[in-house]
Amino acid sequence: LPSRYGAGEKSVWVEYIQLAAEYKPAVNLGQGFPDYPAPDHVTKALAEITTGDNPLLNQYTRGFGHPRLVQNLSKVYSPLIGRQIDPINEILVSSGAYEALFSAILGHVDHGDEVIVIEPYFDCYDYMITSAGGKTRFIALKPKSHSENMTSADWVLDEKELVSLFNDKTKMLILNTPHNPLGKVFSQSELEMIANLCKKHNVLCLSDEVYEWMVYKPHKHIRIATLPGMWERTITVGSAGKTFSVTGWKIGWAYGPAELIRNLQVVHQNCVYTCVTPVQEAVARSFEFELARYNSPDCYFFSLATELLPKRDFLVKTLRDNGFNPTVPDGGYFIIADWTKLANKIDLSTEPDKYKDYKFTKKFAKEAGVLAIPPTAFYSEPHKHLGEDYARFCFIKKDENLQLTEKLIREWN
Ligand code: PMP
Ligand code: GLN
Repeated sequence: LPSRYGAGEKSVWVEYIQLAAEYKPAVNLGQGFPDYPAPDHVTKALAEITTGDNPLLNQYTRGFGHPRLVQNLSKVYSPLIGRQIDPINEILVSSGAYEALFSAILGHVDHGDEVIVIEPYFDCYDYMITSAGGKTRFIALKPKSHSENMTSADWVLDEKELVSLFNDKTKMLILNTPHNPLGKVFSQSELEMIANLCKKHNVLCLSDEVYEWMVYKPHKHIRIATLPGMWERTITVGSAGKTFSVTGWKIGWAYGPAELIRNLQVVHQNCVYTCVTPVQEAVARSFEFELARYNSPDCYFFSLATELLPKRDFLVKTLRDNGFNPTVPDGGYFIIADWTKLANKIDLSTEPDKYKDYKFTKKFAKEAGVLAIPPTAFYSEPHKHLGEDYARFCFIKKDENLQLTEKLIREWN
């Protein structure tokens, strides 16, 4: 394997999806995806499109994004960003948010460029940076305290440390808000601090906002591209999989100024070239459906968080009642929980893994029947100790499976 691929050799997803197949845990709270149906109008749209009377919807479409989809993305985001987004030059439709991230990094990061990444981070960022020839500079969010009722807002960046990472090689900073795995929703002042540094050092911001609609009141998702002077230097990434609870559809997008999106288009046109037409058409129609009821609480952009909130609270309580110390997430659909108070109840010596969270999640899956993700996968090698005491649980699951989780964890305890 060429050395530039080093960071990507081991993937927690490949390993834990395999584990789920092997152990057959009673509940899988590992990889993030809903175990219940997406909104009816979304799945019906796709069914109708593939068998409907327009055969061209099963053929290639425009490479940078199906016309009806980019039109709708522009309609959704223009008012949120406060400027008219050009659907043709300022948006790229990609194979999931993954490919938008990949095209943004490959399209902008050159040999020797540095990219600032906030830990814990969605694991593919580092791999993408190294494969572009760049160098990742990490900074970890750290909990202000370890109290019993921590929330994701308690995980913060040290401003001095962040300032010290910027230099004349810094090309890009990757932001993820709402954050996976912490659920942190970056505040206005945190975003201003990041934005001011990006402007001062002429650095691009790649903002991964795939969980943009999953934010719990009173928290609000703020798009960094709306901060003064930031549109010009920000590429924002979204995901249909997260927006409409259809993670298997793998359609995502990036939007930003034409000069920046152009580089992503070059990568995309020589790699993926064009994404699945019927799925893009279905996502477009789904946006039209939601835009038509945007002012109603039934609009999925808002009802999704309402539906997830009791699930979050139930899983937080379950974890707390059973000896975990969860960080309550302000956004997203994951909970990070400290398991170290349970260490005396579980024999980790039988698990050969290097990191304690890998040992814990594997043993816990075998004993309790509940699969979680080890967060050290989201840290660079020198910082992995920061994630070892935790496990990540996904809560976008049917109530009956959350209740089963409660029963299994209680019985294990
Ligand atoms: N970014 C983050 C933070 C994610 O959690 C995910 C989850 N898959 C992605 C990007 C990729 O999204 P997609 O499934 O649309 O490729
Ligand atoms: N974003 C999801 C998670 O964090 C899925 C990850 C993936 O598909 N690689 O669990």
